[in-house]
Amino acid sequence: MWRLADLIEEHADELALLEALDVGKPFTAARQGDILDTADRFRYFAGWVGKVSGQTMDHAGEHDRHAYTVREAVGVAALITAWNFPLFQAANKIGPALAAGCTVVIKPPELAPLSTIRLAQLAQKAGFPPGVINVLPGSGAVAGAALASHAGVDKVSFTGSTGTGRRILEAAGGNLKRVTLELGGKSPVILLEDADLKKAIPAVARSIFLNAGQVCSAGTRLYVAAAMEREVLSGIAAYAESLVAGDAASPSTTLGPLVSATQLDRVAAMCDRACAAGARVWTGSRRLSRRGHFFAPTVLSQVDPKQQAWTEEIFGPVLCANVLPEGGLEEIANAANEGPYGLAAYVWTSDAGRAHSLARALKAGLVVVNGGRRDASVPNGGFKQSGWGREHGLEAVASFTEVKSVVLGL
Ligand code: NDP
Repeated sequence: MWRLADLIEEHADELALLEALDVGKPFTAARQGDILDTADRFRYFAGWVGKVSGQTMDHAGEHDRHAYTVREAVGVAALITAWNFPLFQAANKIGPALAAGCTVVIKPPELAPLSTIRLAQLAQKAGFPPGVINVLPGSGAVAGAALASHAGVDKVSFTGSTGTGRRILEAAGGNLKRVTLELGGKSPVILLEDADLKKAIPAVARSIFLNAGQVCSAGTRLYVAAAMEREVLSGIAAYAESLVAGDAASPSTTLGPLVSATQLDRVAAMCDRACAAGARVWTGSRRLSRRGHFFAPTVLSQVDPKQQAWTEEIFGPVLCANVLPEGGLEEIANAANEGPYGLAAYVWTSDAGRAHSLARALKAGLVVVNGGRRDASVPNGGFKQSGWGREHGLEAVASFTEVKSVVLGL
């Protein structure tokens, strides 16, 4: 895994170009983000090899037996990834699976399979034994469904939409595979009146416009104190307008196209419906008049909370904002917790007490306060319909193991 990480860094330009061509992800963002993070993940998970142990049990002073647990590799793991971060997601699944001792079959998304195929070639060069990392390109309905239902597969780790996650669960029921699901989100951003706006405005903007909004944990639902609404939304709109749309392969591009015409139509339709229902447009809410599936980075406010744009994953560069509900932290948390998702939540405040209280009250697998940076050690996953299980950190490695208890009579 260390050797593979080195090879990924050596081929960083090439891998970033593949992501740009396949996903439409800006080259520079892919080079500095996805690719280096992918190498980092392999190094991080390499560190767990040989360190995942069981426990010994104390039997309340009874010395007639000795019991301990071991963690064993679950077996063959099928890894199904999505098109928004194909290489990075591959690393987040292959790394812990190998650290646990599993072999893997990875199915990359048909819209963006190239970087995973190249990764497998690099793995071969790094010296992985044949059969440890296998790539099975093909459509979800055929290759993905076959893996999810295959009796020789012991575990499925999936990233993608909530609907497909449900189909995978059904398919996995045949042999009761272990399943980890990283699904959609509609993550709230809570900007309290004591937030440091100099830091918050660009961070909130980055969170929604990174990868043209095609990020499961993007901060998409902004709750902002009424007194700050104008300053915050005009600041985010200015950030949006400063993005440079263009050829994803060009190093100066900071806004790429959406992944497909289908995705563009979906995003545009959700925005149109929200605007028809009375949302105010601060910027964007239109297709860009250039070749490619470009949608203008968009900021909407006064969004009807019943609109799909407020309740559903848009997966485009669209921030929806409303003012904070009246009342205290409880009312704020209740509003933020509405809906079926619980992937991430973002809080901006300079009051540590309020930060911790909200962190406790929010139903999300990840709560980020004041832009705290995550790394490979921080578990990631969803409450409610945002998923099952966790990726990253020890949790990820443990999810590719079975616990065996051994009890010896003495
Ligand atoms: P999907 O959930 O359909 O695709 C994710 C992966 O699952 C792909 O590799 C896909 O294959 C595969 N797949 C599809 N159907 C099956 C199946 N029956 N059995 C096994 N695997 C399957 O997401 P979409 O690409 O259709 O995106 C739709 C929406 O999902 C987006 O608009 C967004 O809202 C959400 N999404 C969320 C992501 C996240 O990170 N949480 C990531 C991507 C999408 P293939 O692509 O080859 O068909």
